[in-house]
Amino acid sequence: MLNNYYNYIMSEKPLFEEIKQTLIAQHRDKDEIDKIEEAFEFAKRLHEGQYRISEEPYIIHPVEVAKILVDLKADSHTLMAAFLHDILEDTDTKPEEIEQKFGKDVLTLVQGVTKLGKLQFKSNEERQAENFRRLFIAMANDIRIIFLKLADRLHNMRTLNFMATQKQQKIARETLDIFAPLANRLGIGKIKAELEDLSLRYLEPDKYFEIAQLVSQTKAEREMTVQLLIDQISKDVKKNGINAQITGRAKHYYSIYSKMKRLNIAFHDLYDITAVRVIVDTEKECYEVLGLIHSQFKPIPGRFKDYIAMPKGNMYQSLHTSVIGPRSKPLEVQIRTWEMHEVAEYGVAAHWRYKEKGSQKANNPADMRFSWMRKMAEYDNDMTSAEDYVNSVKLDLFSDQVFAFTPNGDVLDLPINATPVDFAYRIHSDVGNRTVGALINGRIAQLDTKLNNGDIVEILTSKTPAPRLDWLNFVVTKQASSKIKQWFKKNNRESHIDVGRANLEHELTKAVFDEYAKQGEFEKVAKQMNYQSAEDLFAALGYGETTVNKIINKLRKPQQKTPGSNFHSSNRKKSEKDIVGLEGLLYSFAKCCSPIPGEPIVGVVTRSKGVSVHRIDCKTLENIQPERLMDIHWSGDNTNKTYTTTIRIETGEKMGLLKDIVAAVSDNNTNITYANVKSKNNKVGIIELGMELDNVETLKKVINCIQAIPDVFSVKRIQTSYSPGGHQNNSRNNRSNKSGKSNKNSGKKSS
Ligand code: MN
Repeated sequence: MLNNYYNYIMSEKPLFEEIKQTLIAQHRDKDEIDKIEEAFEFAKRLHEGQYRISEEPYIIHPVEVAKILVDLKADSHTLMAAFLHDILEDTDTKPEEIEQKFGKDVLTLVQGVTKLGKLQFKSNEERQAENFRRLFIAMANDIRIIFLKLADRLHNMRTLNFMATQKQQKIARETLDIFAPLANRLGIGKIKAELEDLSLRYLEPDKYFEIAQLVSQTKAEREMTVQLLIDQISKDVKKNGINAQITGRAKHYYSIYSKMKRLNIAFHDLYDITAVRVIVDTEKECYEVLGLIHSQFKPIPGRFKDYIAMPKGNMYQSLHTSVIGPRSKPLEVQIRTWEMHEVAEYGVAAHWRYKEKGSQKANNPADMRFSWMRKMAEYDNDMTSAEDYVNSVKLDLFSDQVFAFTPNGDVLDLPINATPVDFAYRIHSDVGNRTVGALINGRIAQLDTKLNNGDIVEILTSKTPAPRLDWLNFVVTKQASSKIKQWFKKNNRESHIDVGRANLEHELTKAVFDEYAKQGEFEKVAKQMNYQSAEDLFAALGYGETTVNKIINKLRKPQQKTPGSNFHSSNRKKSEKDIVGLEGLLYSFAKCCSPIPGEPIVGVVTRSKGVSVHRIDCKTLENIQPERLMDIHWSGDNTNKTYTTTIRIETGEKMGLLKDIVAAVSDNNTNITYANVKSKNNKVGIIELGMELDNVETLKKVINCIQAIPDVFSVKRIQTSYSPGGHQNNSRNNRSNKSGKSNKNSGKKSS
């Protein structure tokens, strides 16, 4: 057990020496190396007297972790953090001390690794595993933290034989489910393969050792086959002026194992455990070599893959083909450039590795394939060193997501800004509907609190469902908003019927409505439109499933129109879906301000009558509690729809002025629905015009045209004095204007 330790002690070289030599070989600055050594010395002193289960001095672990990272050419802060990564957890060291000695960046890295170490991986389920991987990445907001954690895990896996069997199983399973795929996602093929093989060794020892034995037994034969292939093609390769390195080896154990398992076959039936790798200088040469190989050896159909033209998500590039090789042995062949090889082995770390080799390519094509790297690419030219680059690579892979836990440890992935209500609806719509409160990490929290990564969320529910419309203001998942709307649609039938009926009465006038009702017309229209009854039809209108116009168009034309029914044809489009944020919801336009498309609007949630749409500058909003306000806006598609508004014009007394004004309005293709003319002190004429128009731009034009008329003093839009909650009252008799002076219903129709 103590062999390792003695090797270290007995060897002339102190623990840091090997790393130091590598750093020198990598041309690192002396200052940098000194700083790294300082971190090593500090950690060594703190871990003094601590031992691993292997009975090695503890410091050997951080040293080995640092070695893995030196191989990846990690920057100096990452290497310092590698030495220090276990001291917060295992010693009494305070974070302040690390910051003071090694700086804030190093402390952040150490804390990041420590935090990730506390994550409990619970479930083995595939989907769950994926979520944990994402959570992991999301929590490590700096990619270097992931490298540290992967290196830490790799060394722990290498020394896993000292652990108790049960613990070995658990750690190996976690490695296979979480860490190997994580390495794969980052494209670090080298670490991924080793993690997989080590996991297999503990999870399926029989299979592992069987494969290992068979691979070594077939080694001589494999090498001979590969040598024959090299002999056969190297002449052609040279003749074409291509400088190629050709090697052959067995695939790694885990990939052989998964293939046997997937195809349900024995080792000897696996025909392509040998992988030949050809590495050349340029992409063009990759295809040339492919041609040379295919001309000598028969390709196996369906096995050619061009990952150069179509790189994998983790930016892996190569050409893959399988051929019937020498002595009729099937071989898999991978062809790539040196640069692609770096990427295949080191993934995202390849960037700074390759760059340091003196590649001056400003835009390494490999970089362009990682989204976070793409972002960084624009800084590329300003970067003075690889270290600057590394420092600036912040992980934004999942920055649009947040991961939260149920009290049972299940993890849910939600969009950023998700709230406990989104969380509740994600669990189940019934949980969502019955939500009354939430505990986040054991503390009572507002339902609109934005969740953070790693939050544990417990939803408090009532027996009876009672979702709230104002939740629509803050939920961010489609699931939550559509379920909330659905619930209101189903459960407020009575008020939907009232609203639908009121809208029709308003449009048709009460007398006409009653007449239709008496003749059973609404029942007929309901059947035509596939509703069970007139009530269902009204309800559908009430919650916005159909429109007033659609119903009126289906009604039999009345014998005689009640006089005045054309007046005040306001709010006709009440139920049409043209406002973003209110889809499927019951809503209406507030009469106090009659908003028209193009104007900034806001929704006010009313107690029982859905959402009232106001202009954002409507005076009545001052008294509304902010939580009742909803963020809404017009959709772009308001063509062929009209809205009603009223303007007030002050004029000098001049005959014929009204005619000019009406002409100005008509010139802009706008209908006048209502006009009221009176005079003030016999000096100033006041004209109020109700108009139907399509959007605010038209209104501006109309107002400009009227203002251009001589003797017009002022033109204003007017607000009536409705309360925002009361706009659903459709009785025209309640209408009054701001001045309160006009004669109600004395409007003169003109058009
Ligand atoms: Mn560790």
